[in-house]
Amino acid sequence: MKKVFCIGELLIDFVAENQGKNLSKAKEFTKKAGGAPANVACAISKLEGKSVFVGCVGDDPFGNFLLNVLEENNVDTTMAQKSVVFTTLAFVSIDDDGERDFVFSRGADKELKYDPALKKEFKNNMVHFGAATAMLGGNLEEAYNRFFFDALTKDSFISFDPNYREDLWKKKEDVFIKKCMPFIQKSHLGKFSLEEAQLLSGKEDLNEACSVLHETGVAIIVVTLGKEGTLLSTKDFSKTIPSIEVAPVDTTGAGDSFIGCLLKQISTHDSLEALLDDETELTKMVAMANKAGAITTTNFGAIESLPTQKQLDT
Ligand code: ATP
Repeated sequence: MKKVFCIGELLIDFVAENQGKNLSKAKEFTKKAGGAPANVACAISKLEGKSVFVGCVGDDPFGNFLLNVLEENNVDTTMAQKSVVFTTLAFVSIDDDGERDFVFSRGADKELKYDPALKKEFKNNMVHFGAATAMLGGNLEEAYNRFFFDALTKDSFISFDPNYREDLWKKKEDVFIKKCMPFIQKSHLGKFSLEEAQLLSGKEDLNEACSVLHETGVAIIVVTLGKEGTLLSTKDFSKTIPSIEVAPVDTTGAGDSFIGCLLKQISTHDSLEALLDDETELTKMVAMANKAGAITTTNFGAIESLPTQKQLDT
């Protein structure tokens, strides 16, 4: 089984309780571990895969809390870094319709430094880039570029999720697209929401959007479509694979659970070439990842709702 290195942010989400959408009125907050790449690392480990988190937290109680959460979920944190800069904090309120109010206090996540020791670790392993805050500048963006363009070899399997956040990129969408494109070009697997596929390709129609993205170079595209399931597209075929029916209570982390489950399954395969030619196997894997995403929506929170292998097998 290959290791999956998940690179990017790990932060505290302070989620407002009981006050509806208006963050200015919020009085009580629940502290939760957040950050898409960290969620993906936990998703892989909960499914008995091997994940390694590469990111930076503050050398403070919040940073310790975050690393503990990963360790409790069996994620390897030996490559995580600590900074004198305070741990990144996000404050979020969500109303009954899922509308978010959001304040972001950016700290240690942007301090990640390039670590040349990882180059040999990446060889014959898998690396997942869950962009999000990495495109916002700071040392993290530079480190991200070096991990991507200097440390990967042709033996590394590369996965990319742009993790577009409207809150962070409003009116700067063109910058976001420009920064994402070189990553999409070189990745083997690209995971997009419908909004991201349309934004990054400039096409409304999903099939046209996938064609544009494939033309850049990415071999396997998955577009997650909530309860409708997932569009799986390679250069040879394209199909929508339905999800399972559930009663969702909170969709946070469904996409991370989905991609974590897919990466875990890919990590047991020897060759990308063989996988690309195997429509049946890829379809089976995406159906399983859909199930992981669906299960995650049936509980509150992201990491705490990720399924175990036992849950997926039943
Ligand atoms: P995120 O907001 O976490 O980044 P996303 O938009 O990438 O997520 P979703 O499409 O919400 O991801 O969910 C990922 C996968 O989980 C879907 O492709 C689907 O298979 C499954 N899923 C999500 N919501 C539901 C639902 N309501 N019912 C069944 N399956 C679901």
